[in-house]
Amino acid sequence: MKTIIEPFKIKSVEPIRFTTKEERIKILEEAGYNPFLIRADDVLIDLLTDSGTSAMSSDQWAGIMRGDESYAGAKSFYKFESAVKKITGDKFIIPTHQGRAAEKILFSILGGPGKYFASNTFFDTTRANIEFSGAEAVDLLVEVGKHPEQRSPFKGNLDVEALEAFIKKVGKENIPLIMLTVTNNSGGGQPVSMQNIREVKEVCKKNDLHLFLDACRFAENAYFIKMREDGYKNKSVLEICQEMFSYADGSTMSAKKDALVNIGGWLSLNDDELAMKCRNLLIVTEGFPTYGGLAGRDLEAIAQGLEEVVDEHYLQYRIRSTEYLGEKMLGAGIPIIEPPGGHAIYIDAKRFAPHIPQHQYPGQSIVCQLYIEGGVRAVEIGSVMFGKYDNDEQLIPAMMELVRLAIPRRVYTQSHIDYVAEVVIETYKNRNNLKGYEIIYETPMLRHFTAKFKPI
Ligand SMILES: *Cc1c(COP(=O)(O)O)cnc(C)c1O
Repeated sequence: MKTIIEPFKIKSVEPIRFTTKEERIKILEEAGYNPFLIRADDVLIDLLTDSGTSAMSSDQWAGIMRGDESYAGAKSFYKFESAVKKITGDKFIIPTHQGRAAEKILFSILGGPGKYFASNTFFDTTRANIEFSGAEAVDLLVEVGKHPEQRSPFKGNLDVEALEAFIKKVGKENIPLIMLTVTNNSGGGQPVSMQNIREVKEVCKKNDLHLFLDACRFAENAYFIKMREDGYKNKSVLEICQEMFSYADGSTMSAKKDALVNIGGWLSLNDDELAMKCRNLLIVTEGFPTYGGLAGRDLEAIAQGLEEVVDEHYLQYRIRSTEYLGEKMLGAGIPIIEPPGGHAIYIDAKRFAPHIPQHQYPGQSIVCQLYIEGGVRAVEIGSVMFGKYDNDEQLIPAMMELVRLAIPRRVYTQSHIDYVAEVVIETYKNRNNLKGYEIIYETPMLRHFTAKFKPI
């Protein structure tokens, strides 16, 4: 088979500013050893997130010029609405300025003390919005998804038996909805199978529960279904997406992921009364229902991005380029979540740096060294992000200690990725020199964004 190439040519470029190792040591120290606090201009290859970092196509930029900026009923809204409906089939499409705005609206209305929500794994902002409302968020990931070294095609699946037990335990009247995150971002970008979606739907139906998708990476999930699940090889990605959404009663979406834009999101639903309540809140927090915190030009870019993201040459390149980085690391013996996920490679920090205990944040240590070694910015997804404290102020560590290298869509070429692999491999060779970190400043919620650290 021939090399899978980037399915685009480059029309506009953005120069990268080079730094020396000495400069980076100083920059990192000044940022309190938290890469979120480093200026982007001081980063060579930025794999902090795949969110809002996509390169837009010439057709999307043309859409930016076409944007209708009318306050109400803009042409661009109807284009956006019809592009989202084509994929979701949902009755009400509510634009929001990003994914968490959709979550905030949905969970302010459905959440509150005494309520429970379950998911394969809630993403951090989703969990935060549920907990902020006073409700509880419960993750019910299948067992294999908790073992980074075990290969399985759909490690993002929800444990259906655990779901049934959960419903019995807390009572269906206290569960406003069940959510499936596709692909499972916090669990390694692993896909959810169509069979699992169907089974979860069955349980929801039996118990009169709503099923929602956290749809951020719906197209990547659909491509995995096409590649890995029986019966889908000859279906188009669009058809697979439509089937996935057909089982759901609604979705929250960050267009900063699989709509290939830099800002935007939506909340889609079918229930008339819930939609009315959501739109009322939208007007208070985001704006009129035909723009929801976005400019007309953003709605145009999303509509066009949704056409491009289901293109199978794009998805083949997308999934393969992530896998390519994963294979290079595995070839050097680096422990990662296997198989590679859709949008990112996740290093298993517990096995990478087993000499650093969880309360000294092994993932943070690796993240810092990747920056010093090669100016590569990654993010810790472990006890910094998900750790909690017990009543004695002792850390309750996260289930996994991961370092995520998220690949922005259509931004970096193969040589950039080769460079990243070299930096990670060099860091791995010198892993015995990695030191633990302690937190010297933190906020009560989503502390990873602003925390400051000190090497031990
Ligand atoms: C990014 C993301 C969100 C939140 O979306 P924002 O646009 O960043 O607010 C929610 N869920 C998942 C799975 C995500 O990846």
